[in-house]
Amino acid sequence: MKFPQQLLLRLTGLLEAPPLQTAATPPEKRPRVRQPRLHGEDAQLTAQARELLHGQRGLRELAGKVRVVWNARLQTTAGTASARTWEVEINPRLKDHGAATIGRILRHELAHLISVYRAGRRRIAAHGPEWRQACADLGIPGEPRCHSLPLKAREVRAKFAYRCQHCGRLLKRVRALERRSACFDCCQKHNRGRYDERYRYVRVPMDVLEEGRVKQPE
Ligand SMILES: [Zn+2]
Ligand SMILES: [Zn+2]
Repeated sequence: MKFPQQLLLRLTGLLEAPPLQTAATPPEKRPRVRQPRLHGEDAQLTAQARELLHGQRGLRELAGKVRVVWNARLQTTAGTASARTWEVEINPRLKDHGAATIGRILRHELAHLISVYRAGRRRIAAHGPEWRQACADLGIPGEPRCHSLPLKAREVRAKFAYRCQHCGRLLKRVRALERRSACFDCCQKHNRGRYDERYRYVRVPMDVLEEGRVKQPE
């Protein structure tokens, strides 16, 4: 008995073989690996932050900008705030401390954003009267400048802290800087990448790192 060539191939499965998965398979077709949510925005906390700001006079615009994100890179710091991005970063380890603690840290950091926002281009101290006022407005009068949370530090801890004299960026180091070093971002931005004394990192006491930092808008 003689089969036509086409049918023979079909019977042996050669024609019906599924297309091979090759390197050319587009990335969106590959299965996604789910990562634990230690990073990224928390929609619920962002909504809570916006609600807190909506309750304040003159802060509706800020309410539209603010975002709350988890940052697993934070070690003993409970939270930070950046007025550059209007982001509040919260340490995921706070999840072990309950919603009330998270709410307090959220208010503390929001108060940083409010005080910087209200101050406009005026430079203010991170935990000065403007910040204390914002804390009172958010219902946490007398908030301490530092949080003494029993967060576990990693074995290796930074012992040296430096601050860019220009943008205020903090640099944490386990060892001291051996040479004069300047802020990379500022040198790039203002000086075509070359070193300049104006952007040199100056040593600051470690206790400024115990709690969140605030970057002022330029
Ligand atoms: Zn800088
Ligand atoms: Zn603070």
